Amino acid sequence: MGSFIEEIRAIVGPAGLITSPIEIAPYATDWRKRYLGKAAAVVRPASTAEVAEVVRVCAGSRTVIVPQGGNTGLCGAATPDASGTQIVLNLSRMNRIREVDARNSTMTAEAGCVLANLQRAAEEAGRFFPLSLAAEGSCEIGGNLSTNAGGTAVLRYGNARELALGLEVVLPSGEVWEGLRGLRKDNTGYDLKQLFIGAEGTLGVITAAVLKLFPLPKSHATAVVALQSPEKAVVLLERVLEACGERLTGFELLSDSCLSLVLKHFRDTAAPFPRRFPHYVLMELSDTQSGGGVRALAESVLEASLEEKSVLDAAVAQNETQAQAFWKLREFISEAQAHEGPNTRALPISFRRRTRNSHALMRARAW
Ligand SMILES: Cc1cc2nc3c(=O)[nH]c(=O)nc-3n(C[C@H](O)[C@H](O)[C@H](O)COP(=O)(O)OP(=O)(O)OC[C@H]3O[C@@H](n4cnc5c(N)ncnc54)[C@H](O)[C@@H]3O)c2cc1C
Repeated sequence: MGSFIEEIRAIVGPAGLITSPIEIAPYATDWRKRYLGKAAAVVRPASTAEVAEVVRVCAGSRTVIVPQGGNTGLCGAATPDASGTQIVLNLSRMNRIREVDARNSTMTAEAGCVLANLQRAAEEAGRFFPLSLAAEGSCEIGGNLSTNAGGTAVLRYGNARELALGLEVVLPSGEVWEGLRGLRKDNTGYDLKQLFIGAEGTLGVITAAVLKLFPLPKSHATAVVALQSPEKAVVLLERVLEACGERLTGFELLSDSCLSLVLKHFRDTAAPFPRRFPHYVLMELSDTQSGGGVRALAESVLEASLEEKSVLDAAVAQNETQAQAFWKLREFISEAQAHEGPNTRALPISFRRRTRNSHALMRARAW
């Protein structure tokens, strides 16, 4: 292992290598502290060329690589196993936005760019990058693409898969697959980038991506709706889609037990209604036109639903502070669950079943 580490150090330099067990520990533990691993080293390359060299050396010595972005995943897939022989390949130093092309509505960003920084850069260029999730201050675009993250605007803009036009990937051989294209009407051959999106790093390391940008919304309306059951939420969804079409950007179902956890662990949150209900929907409409049009639309749809008694209560945010307070009820759920404690005993990763199905199941339960 000694000469392997020296080879890696020669590629990434001292700033790109962590070998002390105490410093490795946070990278070898998942966000909810349910999965505890060990690693021979954490390698933090600063360029695509360095990633390629590191992967080549690992392929030569058959060292297992665990790619990692912001380490906010909730399935343990960015955590090394307990053997201490794997390396964590952390992409966070690759955090350069290579280009924002406002005319083409695209942005080319390195894998380690934090999602919130990309949203900000798009906004500064008068554009909108719609991927949004509660972990956006820490998760990174390479991780978002590798998990095919959904987030809260998935109904309108799709998963991360739909937001990528091109990718740059280091293959398991150490070769660089150059697919950084910004063309929308691209009908040439196989769409190979889709293989790497949602692959959780199993087929290669994403080092950069061309992302789609959209017109910046100028107005929005946020509402919380109380319901008897998830079935009633589906009825509401149909009605809102019919009335609002593409203006519907968020539609999130919350159970009362999730709300209870948030209220318990975050003192600055408040229940949206004086009494409690079994389920709630957090709904967001947005429009590229400014003015109160979307709020009036939300109010009229919800009034109709209240009249026909398909919803039990509804509140439309009257200002930005109220809208943010409503969103906190959704965004704090994962953190509230983390504060509540693991719902399975923390185990070394080698004791867990790491099948795609078990990951998918855990995700489905998480939201
Ligand atoms: C509070 C909170 C809220 C969340 N909300 C949502 C949500 O609404 N929707 C949702 O989908 N997820 C959500 N998540 C889960 C998580 O944030 C996402 O899965 C996110 O996309 C992971 O990004 P990351 O950079 O943290 O990736 P990591 O956790 O570091 O890695 C995730 C996976 O991607 C692989 N990987 C990372 N970077 C690369 C790369 N460059 N190349 C190849 N493989 C790579 C890792 O090996 C691992 O398999 C939430 C998590 C938290 C903590």
